[in-house]
Amino acid sequence: MRLAIIGGGQLARMLALDGWRLGIHFTFLVEPGENYSCVNGLGDVVELDKNMSADELFKALGKPDVLTVEKEHVDADILNMLADKCRVAPNADAVKVTQHRGREKNFLRSLDIQTAPYQEANSKPSLASSINKMGLPVLVKSSEEGYDGRGQWMLRNDDDLKSFLAEDDLNRDFVIEGLVDFDKECSMIAARSADGDCVFYPLTDNVHKNGILLTSYADTNQSDNALTQSANAIAKSILNKLDYVGVLAIEFFVIGNQLIVNELAPRVHNSGHWSQATDVCSQFENHLRAVFNLPLGDTQPSTHVAMVNLLGVTLDKPNKLASNMQLHEYNKEPRPNRKIGHINIWHESLDELKLQVKNLLEELY
Ligand code: ATP
Ligand code: MG
Repeated sequence: MRLAIIGGGQLARMLALDGWRLGIHFTFLVEPGENYSCVNGLGDVVELDKNMSADELFKALGKPDVLTVEKEHVDADILNMLADKCRVAPNADAVKVTQHRGREKNFLRSLDIQTAPYQEANSKPSLASSINKMGLPVLVKSSEEGYDGRGQWMLRNDDDLKSFLAEDDLNRDFVIEGLVDFDKECSMIAARSADGDCVFYPLTDNVHKNGILLTSYADTNQSDNALTQSANAIAKSILNKLDYVGVLAIEFFVIGNQLIVNELAPRVHNSGHWSQATDVCSQFENHLRAVFNLPLGDTQPSTHVAMVNLLGVTLDKPNKLASNMQLHEYNKEPRPNRKIGHINIWHESLDELKLQVKNLLEELY
């Protein structure tokens, strides 16, 4: 079995680490000049050459059985090009929906799934009129290419608006979102196999630092509560409508018992890294199982479990790692706020887990 992955970052790395155990061979398709230190030694690396025909690309990738992605910002033409040569999972149309915030929100609305109030705009005049229609404060997001809070402008007052409208380069797609006064943010990792079977991990509570994910807690107490039921139903309707194969991540805002979808990611996701620990099948293995149409694995851990991101920092003394902690390093150069690894922690007691996470954060930051 051979899997080709578009991208050579940490998500590709962790897919490969789980895949080797399943006897899968890997090819990573990277952009010319892209740094792929994360996947060094884990498979073949091919640099994309835009002049290649479908046949040439398929051959260069080692005639994979499946082509998948580790990021949403990929050229969907590549997915289409190889669609009659191997399984492409998730499919190009699904990836296209999630690449563009406007298309994604319109898609969610078509399924009657709640989002933040929004307008679309693609020029300075349409931005000005949409923002005026929404009323300040608003969050303007570029429709394509943003991540970790980049490509976003918080406009709270007329001065913010004026300086935003003075920016160059406003002739592109944006969504303008009303601010959601949420109680908390959470996410769900779901997987759908080529046969249409679906599994759902527990909702995960997420805490961000400067717009970047810092910690996640799997909400293991709530596998049959109302919030989980409605998150599962939302995930199922999205997966089925997109004829989606693989792991999909859904980010939510929570207000009381109400779920508002913030965004979708057509891939394994940072908020699901905790699934590498405890007694579940990891999101990485379930993605592999889904795209190779193998039976999906367990998703409900029997202990409380959390993840702490290493944002430009690592443990001073890795030998201080407790026996209920699991360190993952991505083989990346540390830079401020760069995701260079994470630590999974599990404990039977939620209070003890929270204390250990707090102590770890104090040690790291
Ligand atoms: P990431 O790549 O980390 O998921 P992103 O760049 O794709 O981030 P979003 O997830 O859309 O961007 O937004 C980043 C954060 O900004 C959210 O996690 C949330 O904390 C805040 N945020 C985004 N949209 C809204 C909104 N409409 N109302 C309130 N807060 C918001
Ligand atoms: Mg997000």
